[in-house]
Amino acid sequence: MNEIRTSRPNDLDAFWMPFTDNRSFKANPRLLARAEGMHYYTPEGREILDGTAGLWCCNAGHGRTQITEAIQRQAAIMDFAPTFQMGHPIAFEAAARVADMLPEGLSRVFFTNSGSESADTALKIALAYHKARGQAQRVRLVGRERGYHGVGFGGMSVGGIGGNRKQFGAMLPYVDHLPHTHLPDRNRFSHGQPEHGAELADTLENLVALHGADTIAAVMVEPVAGSTGVLVPPVGYLQRLREICTKHGILLIFDEVITGFGRLGTNFGAERLGVTPDIMTMAKGLTNAAVPMGAVATSDEIFRTVVEGAPNGIELFHGYTYSGHPLAAAAAVATLDLHREEDLPGRAMAMLPRWAEAVHGFDRAAGVVDVRDFGLIAGIELEPRPGAPGARAMDVFRRCFEDGLLVRVTGDIVALSPPLIVEDRHVERIVEVLDGAIRAVPA
Ligand code: PMP
Repeated sequence: MNEIRTSRPNDLDAFWMPFTDNRSFKANPRLLARAEGMHYYTPEGREILDGTAGLWCCNAGHGRTQITEAIQRQAAIMDFAPTFQMGHPIAFEAAARVADMLPEGLSRVFFTNSGSESADTALKIALAYHKARGQAQRVRLVGRERGYHGVGFGGMSVGGIGGNRKQFGAMLPYVDHLPHTHLPDRNRFSHGQPEHGAELADTLENLVALHGADTIAAVMVEPVAGSTGVLVPPVGYLQRLREICTKHGILLIFDEVITGFGRLGTNFGAERLGVTPDIMTMAKGLTNAAVPMGAVATSDEIFRTVVEGAPNGIELFHGYTYSGHPLAAAAAVATLDLHREEDLPGRAMAMLPRWAEAVHGFDRAAGVVDVRDFGLIAGIELEPRPGAPGARAMDVFRRCFEDGLLVRVTGDIVALSPPLIVEDRHVERIVEVLDGAIRAVPA
């Protein structure tokens, strides 16, 4: 008789972990077993302060019963319903809630399951839009160096991180990249938006001159690039990008997977930065990460063009089995209720002066070469260990975890993005533990 396999909680072999050094992790695992409010707890019950809101996503903190109970209720009512040729009320409700929050000009919402799917969906909508309006030659996509738009082939191609691309052969054709906006010599230790670099947006004009404006479909950028180490747009940069896109009929796509849902002190980065894109991607904070969900918002004009431009039948040949999944939609509605009731963006905004002061306390710390902040995000860049880029920050990460703080590192940059419910005492603790770790770890 076959032996029935029971759970094997100590067996770490089967799970091929994403974006992780599997060998070193499994030799010395870091496990999180429970979460509540601002904290995680290890299986042994050790408390870990969450300095990263999970992965930039648990904006309302952990274990919010309003959200988890909504998911449980929905699971008992209806576990799943298809959204191809069928609909269910909670998906429409979730879309309407998102639409109510969107910057003026954006009103239609397509659901996905992740930031990566949102990026690919946004690019496909942009291409379908131009085709529907008789401009099928607009096939070029423009991203940015050090941009991160997830791991699908669209987002990866438009994204600008060599490490994420080199293993996988050919990317999408007809993709160009604008330069990134990180200018350490001119903007070191800038508070909020850096002063210098708006002119980097003009490189889009060079691509227009090179290829012809009528070949370019869309430009996709993160308002604030998070995953590549907190790159904040220089004052005027996004405005300039918007102007050039509008002038040439190019769609501007904002990837708001990190900046959406309050992290910059407003519902979306677009509001805080005063620039409205034509298409916007979201994920993470949409459901407080309690159930995976992403979304893409477009203008009414884009929706109408794709829908009315279609001969008949299905207008956009795109979607996922789980688009608008009932559990995710229920989580989104509950999260957005909570977002409004607790005014999470307002809370974040009120915390910003304290946050900026705290993180810029590292400006003069030994081994720190730059500090950047915008909204409840900070990047603290360490001087790399000679001959071992990234090793120093990884040691800081490990040390922080031992001392009860979760941070995120990318290269030699320590990225912080606490839940938006962070209080003064948590900010103090983040600084204390991180400072201790930076001092303790060898240069
Ligand atoms: N876009 C941005 C800006 C992101 O930060 C991320 C994830 N960190 C993604 C896309 C990809 O999201 P996901 O991991 O949910 O696919």
